Amino acid sequence: MVEDERRVASFTARALRENAYAVDVAETGEAGLEMAKSNPYDAILLDIRLPGLSGIEVCQKLRDAGVETPILMLTARGLVEQRVEGLDAGADDYLVKPFALAELLARLRALMRRNLGRGTAKLRYADLEVDRHRRRVVRGRSTVPLTSKEFALLEFLMLRAPDTITRSEIVEHVWDCHFDSASNLVEVYINRLRQKIDHEQPQKLIHTVRGVGYCLRLES
Ligand code: CA
Repeated sequence: MVEDERRVASFTARALRENAYAVDVAETGEAGLEMAKSNPYDAILLDIRLPGLSGIEVCQKLRDAGVETPILMLTARGLVEQRVEGLDAGADDYLVKPFALAELLARLRALMRRNLGRGTAKLRYADLEVDRHRRRVVRGRSTVPLTSKEFALLEFLMLRAPDTITRSEIVEHVWDCHFDSASNLVEVYINRLRQKIDHEQPQKLIHTVRGVGYCLRLES
Protein backbone atom coordinates (compact mmCIF):
# COMPACT_ATOMS: atom_id res chain seq x y z
CA MET A 1 0.00 0.00 0.00
CA VAL A 2 1.34 3.39 -1.02
CA GLU A 3 -0.35 6.04 1.12
CA ASP A 4 1.09 9.16 2.74
CA GLU A 5 -1.79 9.78 5.14
CA ARG A 6 -0.71 7.80 8.17
CA ARG A 7 -4.15 7.42 9.69
CA VAL A 8 -5.64 6.03 6.50
CA ALA A 9 -2.58 3.81 6.00
CA SER A 10 -2.58 2.33 9.49
CA PHE A 11 -6.34 1.83 9.61
CA THR A 12 -6.40 0.15 6.19
CA ALA A 13 -3.31 -1.96 6.86
CA ARG A 14 -4.77 -3.18 10.13
CA ALA A 15 -8.04 -4.13 8.45
CA LEU A 16 -6.20 -5.99 5.68
CA ARG A 17 -4.04 -7.84 8.19
CA GLU A 18 -7.17 -8.86 10.10
CA ASN A 19 -8.32 -10.35 6.81
CA ALA A 20 -5.15 -12.45 6.57
CA TYR A 21 -3.25 -10.31 4.05
CA ALA A 22 0.39 -9.42 4.58
CA VAL A 23 0.80 -5.67 4.05
CA ASP A 24 3.82 -3.43 3.50
CA VAL A 25 3.22 0.32 3.63
CA ALA A 26 5.19 2.94 1.70
CA GLU A 27 4.64 6.62 2.55
CA THR A 28 6.00 8.06 -0.68
CA GLY A 29 5.70 7.21 -4.35
CA GLU A 30 9.48 6.75 -4.59
CA ALA A 31 9.51 4.21 -1.74
CA GLY A 32 6.46 2.42 -3.18
CA LEU A 33 8.10 2.20 -6.58
CA GLU A 34 11.25 0.61 -5.16
CA MET A 35 9.28 -1.87 -3.05
CA ALA A 36 6.98 -2.84 -5.91
CA LYS A 37 9.94 -3.41 -8.21
CA SER A 38 11.76 -5.66 -5.76
CA ASN A 39 8.94 -7.70 -4.18
CA PRO A 40 6.45 -10.03 -5.87
CA TYR A 41 3.27 -8.48 -4.43
CA ASP A 42 -0.17 -9.92 -5.19
CA ALA A 43 -1.69 -6.44 -5.47
CA ILE A 44 -0.81 -2.76 -5.02
CA LEU A 45 -3.08 -0.20 -3.38
CA LEU A 46 -1.90 3.12 -4.73
CA ASP A 47 -3.07 6.53 -3.53
CA ILE A 48 -3.18 9.06 -6.35
CA ARG A 49 -2.21 12.11 -4.29
CA LEU A 50 1.27 11.64 -2.90
CA PRO A 51 4.08 14.07 -2.12
CA GLY A 52 6.81 13.89 -4.80
CA LEU A 53 5.98 11.25 -7.40
CA SER A 54 2.20 11.04 -7.83
CA GLY A 55 0.27 7.79 -7.92
CA ILE A 56 -0.17 8.24 -11.67
CA GLU A 57 3.60 8.56 -12.17
CA VAL A 58 4.30 5.56 -9.94
CA CYS A 59 1.77 3.53 -11.93
CA GLN A 60 3.31 4.54 -15.27
CA LYS A 61 6.84 3.80 -14.09
CA LEU A 62 5.83 0.37 -12.79
CA ARG A 63 4.15 -0.58 -16.05
CA ASP A 64 7.14 0.79 -18.02
CA ALA A 65 9.41 -1.37 -15.88
CA GLY A 66 7.31 -4.42 -16.79
CA VAL A 67 5.73 -4.85 -13.34
CA GLU A 68 2.30 -6.37 -13.96
CA THR A 69 1.07 -6.56 -10.39
CA PRO A 70 -2.62 -5.56 -10.26
CA ILE A 71 -3.00 -1.94 -9.12
CA LEU A 72 -6.02 -0.54 -7.30
CA MET A 73 -5.86 3.25 -7.41
CA LEU A 74 -7.32 5.34 -4.58
CA THR A 75 -8.78 8.57 -5.96
CA ALA A 76 -10.61 11.63 -4.66
CA ARG A 77 -14.36 11.91 -4.95
CA GLY A 78 -15.74 13.61 -8.03
CA LEU A 79 -12.55 13.81 -10.05
CA VAL A 80 -13.48 11.79 -13.11
CA GLU A 81 -10.36 12.98 -15.00
CA GLN A 82 -8.20 11.54 -12.22
CA ARG A 83 -9.79 8.12 -12.58
CA VAL A 84 -9.44 8.17 -16.35
CA GLU A 85 -5.83 9.24 -15.99
CA GLY A 86 -5.21 6.44 -13.51
CA LEU A 87 -6.70 3.78 -15.76
CA ASP A 88 -4.77 5.17 -18.74
CA ALA A 89 -1.58 4.96 -16.70
CA GLY A 90 -2.13 1.23 -16.31
CA ALA A 91 -4.17 0.88 -13.11
CA ASP A 92 -6.57 -2.07 -13.12
CA ASP A 93 -9.30 -0.49 -11.04
CA TYR A 94 -9.95 2.49 -8.78
CA LEU A 95 -11.74 3.16 -5.54
CA VAL A 96 -13.02 6.56 -4.44
CA LYS A 97 -11.94 7.84 -1.00
CA PRO A 98 -13.36 7.61 1.59
CA PHE A 99 -14.17 3.99 0.85
CA ALA A 100 -16.03 1.30 2.74
CA LEU A 101 -13.75 -1.47 3.94
CA ALA A 102 -16.06 -4.16 2.58
CA GLU A 103 -15.77 -2.63 -0.88
CA LEU A 104 -11.98 -2.38 -0.69
CA LEU A 105 -11.79 -6.06 0.25
CA ALA A 106 -14.17 -7.07 -2.53
CA ARG A 107 -12.23 -5.08 -5.16
CA LEU A 108 -8.94 -6.56 -3.99
CA ARG A 109 -10.32 -10.08 -4.14
CA ALA A 110 -11.62 -9.46 -7.65
CA LEU A 111 -8.26 -8.05 -8.80
CA MET A 112 -6.31 -10.95 -7.39
CA ARG A 113 -8.73 -13.48 -8.83
CA ARG A 114 -8.28 -11.97 -12.27
CA ASN A 115 -4.52 -12.06 -11.82
CA LEU A 116 -4.55 -15.71 -10.74
CA GLY A 117 -6.36 -16.47 -13.98
CA ARG A 118 -3.18 -15.43 -15.77
CA GLY A 119 -1.15 -17.89 -13.72
CA THR A 120 -1.81 -21.48 -12.85
CA ALA A 121 -5.09 -22.10 -11.11
CA LYS A 122 -4.23 -25.59 -9.94
CA LEU A 123 -0.89 -26.46 -8.42
CA ARG A 124 -0.04 -30.14 -8.23
CA TYR A 125 2.78 -31.97 -6.53
CA ALA A 126 2.72 -35.75 -5.99
CA ASP A 127 -0.83 -36.52 -4.78
CA LEU A 128 -1.36 -33.01 -3.44
CA GLU A 129 -3.51 -30.52 -5.33
CA VAL A 130 -4.04 -26.86 -4.47
CA ASP A 131 -6.88 -25.07 -6.25
CA ARG A 132 -6.04 -21.38 -6.02
CA HIS A 133 -9.39 -20.19 -7.34
CA ARG A 134 -11.57 -22.21 -5.03
CA ARG A 135 -8.94 -22.14 -2.27
CA ARG A 136 -9.32 -25.88 -1.87
CA VAL A 137 -6.68 -28.44 -1.01
CA VAL A 138 -6.90 -32.15 -1.78
CA ARG A 139 -4.42 -34.82 -0.75
CA GLY A 140 -5.11 -38.15 -2.47
CA ARG A 141 -8.86 -38.37 -2.31
CA SER A 142 -9.53 -36.28 0.77
CA THR A 143 -10.15 -32.57 1.02
CA VAL A 144 -7.95 -30.86 3.60
CA PRO A 145 -9.56 -27.85 5.33
CA LEU A 146 -7.02 -25.07 5.90
CA THR A 147 -7.16 -21.61 7.48
CA SER A 148 -6.20 -18.70 5.21
CA LYS A 149 -2.66 -18.40 6.62
CA GLU A 150 -2.11 -22.15 6.35
CA PHE A 151 -3.32 -21.95 2.76
CA ALA A 152 -0.97 -19.06 1.95
CA LEU A 153 1.97 -20.98 3.43
CA LEU A 154 1.15 -24.19 1.54
CA GLU A 155 0.62 -22.26 -1.71
CA PHE A 156 4.06 -20.68 -1.31
CA LEU A 157 5.71 -24.07 -0.61
CA MET A 158 3.95 -25.54 -3.65
CA LEU A 159 4.97 -22.70 -5.96
CA ARG A 160 8.61 -23.30 -5.04
CA ALA A 161 8.52 -27.12 -4.71
CA PRO A 162 10.81 -29.03 -4.57
CA ASP A 163 13.15 -26.16 -3.66
CA THR A 164 13.88 -25.10 -0.12
CA ILE A 165 12.52 -21.79 1.09
CA THR A 166 14.04 -19.92 3.99
CA ARG A 167 12.19 -18.84 7.11
CA SER A 168 12.64 -15.19 6.18
CA GLU A 169 11.22 -15.75 2.68
CA ILE A 170 8.19 -17.35 4.31
CA VAL A 171 7.83 -14.49 6.78
CA GLU A 172 8.03 -11.88 4.02
CA HIS A 173 5.60 -13.65 1.74
CA VAL A 174 3.01 -14.96 4.16
CA TRP A 175 3.24 -12.31 6.84
CA ASP A 176 4.92 -8.94 6.14
CA CYS A 177 8.14 -7.05 6.69
CA HIS A 178 7.09 -5.75 10.12
CA PHE A 179 6.63 -9.26 11.41
CA ASP A 180 8.99 -10.33 14.19
CA SER A 181 10.99 -13.04 12.43
CA ALA A 182 12.49 -14.17 15.72
CA SER A 183 9.15 -15.59 16.78
CA ASN A 184 8.42 -19.25 16.16
CA LEU A 185 5.18 -18.65 14.30
CA VAL A 186 6.54 -20.12 11.06
CA GLU A 187 7.36 -23.34 12.90
CA VAL A 188 3.90 -23.40 14.49
CA TYR A 189 2.25 -23.05 11.08
CA ILE A 190 4.54 -25.63 9.47
CA ASN A 191 3.60 -28.08 12.20
CA ARG A 192 -0.11 -27.40 11.70
CA LEU A 193 0.30 -27.99 7.96
CA ARG A 194 2.13 -31.23 8.68
CA GLN A 195 -0.71 -32.38 10.91
CA LYS A 196 -3.19 -31.71 8.13
CA ILE A 197 -1.20 -32.71 5.03
CA ASP A 198 1.20 -35.43 6.15
CA HIS A 199 -0.39 -36.98 9.22
CA GLU A 200 -0.89 -40.74 8.74
CA GLN A 201 0.43 -40.51 5.16
CA PRO A 202 3.19 -43.00 4.28
CA GLN A 203 4.84 -40.36 2.04
CA LYS A 204 5.71 -37.18 3.91
CA LEU A 205 5.80 -34.04 1.73
CA ILE A 206 6.80 -31.24 4.10
CA HIS A 207 10.40 -31.36 5.28
CA THR A 208 12.64 -29.28 7.50
CA VAL A 209 15.99 -28.38 5.97
CA ARG A 210 18.05 -27.90 9.10
CA GLY A 211 19.50 -24.41 9.48
CA VAL A 212 17.88 -23.21 6.24
CA GLY A 213 14.12 -23.54 6.11
CA TYR A 214 11.49 -25.82 4.69
CA CYS A 215 10.57 -27.58 1.47
CA LEU A 216 7.78 -29.56 -0.08
CA ARG A 217 9.14 -32.60 -1.89
CA LEU A 218 8.92 -36.35 -2.30
CA GLU A 219 11.91 -37.99 -0.68
CA SER A 220 13.09 -41.04 -2.57
CA1 CA B 1 -2.56 11.07 -0.21
